[in-house]
Order: sequence, then C-alpha cells, then structure tokens
Amino acid sequence: MVTEIDSPGVVGTSLDRILGVIDLNTSHILDRAMNGEEIGVEDAVTLFGAADLELHALCITANELRKQAVGDIVTFVTVRNINFTNICYTGCRFCAFAKHFGDEEAETLTIDEVARRAEEAWESGATEICMQGGLHPKMTGYEYRDIIIAVKERVPDIHIHAFSPFEIQYGTKKTGLSTRDFLLMLKEVGLGTVPGTAAEILDTEIRQKLTKNKLSAEQWVEIIKTAHSVGLRTTSTIMYGHIDAPIHWARHIAIIRDIQKETGGITEFVPLGFVHWDSPLYLDGGVRPGPTGMEDLRMHAVARIMLNNWIKNIQVSWVKLGPKFAQLCLNAGANDFGGTLMNEKISRSAGAPYGQYMAPEEFQRLVKDMGRIPAQRSTTYDLIKVYE
Ligand code: SF4
Repeated sequence: MVTEIDSPGVVGTSLDRILGVIDLNTSHILDRAMNGEEIGVEDAVTLFGAADLELHALCITANELRKQAVGDIVTFVTVRNINFTNICYTGCRFCAFAKHFGDEEAETLTIDEVARRAEEAWESGATEICMQGGLHPKMTGYEYRDIIIAVKERVPDIHIHAFSPFEIQYGTKKTGLSTRDFLLMLKEVGLGTVPGTAAEILDTEIRQKLTKNKLSAEQWVEIIKTAHSVGLRTTSTIMYGHIDAPIHWARHIAIIRDIQKETGGITEFVPLGFVHWDSPLYLDGGVRPGPTGMEDLRMHAVARIMLNNWIKNIQVSWVKLGPKFAQLCLNAGANDFGGTLMNEKISRSAGAPYGQYMAPEEFQRLVKDMGRIPAQRSTTYDLIKVYE
C-alpha cells in the first residue's frame, strides 16, 4: 500500500488516511478475511452493502486474497457450448431460452449433429464441450448417455462438461435409475464434469417465485454431492439480481462453501447476473432489471472473501458482464475469464448484448492490459499454455 507522511497542518492525501476512515465494522470484517478467518453470513451481508470507500476496500481485499491464493495468472478455457434442444415446458420465469413445439425458434439437434459440432469444436482448438438443454418432453433418459457416446466416438479426447442437476434429475425420472446409478452410467461412457447450473438462488422461497416446477434447493445440493461422490467434479453458480436480496446471496455462497468442505468436488464458483431484457420475469413486471455494476463488483469480491479458503477459482461471465466490466471484476477477486464459447444461446435468448465468441487472442489482450498473465486451462484447471 502506498503511504506518505503528511506534514502537520497539511490536509493529508495518503492512501492510509483515505482508507482509514472507512466504516469500522467493515474494516474489521476485511481484516479478519485478510487473516484467513471464515466470514459468516451476517458479515457477508454487511459487505454486500459496501459503497464508496468501503467498496474500494472490499475490492482491494478480495484482489489481495486472490493474489495470495492463485497469483497473477488469469485463466480461460477453449470451449464450445452445444444447447442440443431448447424445447422445455418447465416454465422458469427468468428463462427466455425455452421454446415450445411449433415456436419459430424451437430447435432440437440430432445426436449426430451434436457429435459433428463437437468434432468441429475440437478441430478448431476447443478442449471442452459444454452441453445443456431444455427438458424435452419426448427425450428418453438414455438419450443423455447416447449423446455422450456419440461425441466420444467422434472425438475421444474432448472433455465433456454436461447436463445440469435439473437435467440429471429429469434423466433419473425418465430411466427410473437412482441419481448415483444414472451419474455412474454417464461417467462410464465419458462424462467428464457436471455444470453446477440450475442453482439460481438456493433458497426455497425465492425459488418458488422464480419457478415452481424446478428442483428444490435440497435436491440441487444432493445431486451435486452425489456427483462428487462418484468422482464427477462440478462447477457452482449463482443467478442474482432479480427478486433476491443480499441475505439470499450470502446464504447461497455459504451453502456452496459447506458442500465444498464436505466433498472438495467443486472446481469454481461463477456469479451469473440475471439477464433481464427478454426474460418473462422482467417483462411481467415487479422485478428489477438485473444487478447493477456495483452489485456485480460486490458479488465477485464477497465470493472471493467467503470462498477463498475452499474454492480457489472465481469466474467472471464476460457474456453477461461484457469484456470490459469483466476486467474490473478480475480486479475484485476473480481469477478466471471463463470460456471462449461458440453458439452460446442461453444468455443471448434473454437479450444479453455481448457476443457469443471471443478469440483466445482477445482474452490474452484483455488480461495483459490488466498487467496479469493469461493462460489457457483445462476444464479442471490444469494449465495448458501460459502466455508470459
Ligand atoms: S431454465 Fe432450463 S428448465 Fe427452466 S424453462 Fe429454461 S430451459 Fe427449461
């Protein structure tokens, strides 16, 4: 930290003096975080209220913790998203991706087309395909397995990151298999990791308002833990900035932390701001238009502070934040720039204005602009190439 000795009687401008007037409670919480202490839900709510100097102090603390935990490397993964069907009748109110039979934009890919896209991705340098879709009423549970088999036949070495906990639950209902047996079946044919999406906010009351028909918070936790127990690692996410409040965010992150303490199976935490533009939840009224920039900063910083001892990787979603704001969040606790993506449909369907593909060279440029070191990683955070 820069300091200067102020002359008596001269109005001081030292950074210590500026930061020295921040709210004592906030300062105390940040000090404890710097000492490696666990920050609880109540303290996290205080941090989610940080503004002005307190917000700067929060970001500085999170940035410093990030530096101590993972250094100055900012990672990205070369990945193609394959949304194999957008037909879904679940009716999540925040979702603009789902379509019904007969809708103009309804689309279901054949298994062969999914495999072809995976091969195309591999040939253009992708190491991972991320596959998620709607809950197509005519899909048999075994089609999840067959998709993996078809992809692995064409591109045996590509990493398959696929099927949200909600799709896994759907697969178990359709096949009659237990969650454990269903996941083991998918793992056996080549599933690599599972996206920790469909978490939204792990709070029963909020979930009821977002979607009555989706799996419960308890079921989400159970499926994630079962995945870990069979050796499938997962990511973890939060979708914030709709009908939720800081208390829900703090509790949600604490639940993710508890899972990690128990299983150690989570690779990263990804804050996903609610994209409102074309979402029914927003268009029907009564919900705010996604998080503000300040909330985005706080979310990444508080996530780092709460999770630092347990989950080292905090990802920014450049698709939702935009590449420039993502740079700011990477200076507020985050260390991973996410994926290059191709054909990302979920955020775009909700009206997110940012592109669906960013070239590895652009990641490198943005990271170097921050004075940090870009590196390509695998899905599970092994470094593939460091661009010193
Ligand atoms: S979020 Fe998923 S489950 Fe819900 S409506 Fe959209 S596609 Fe269906």
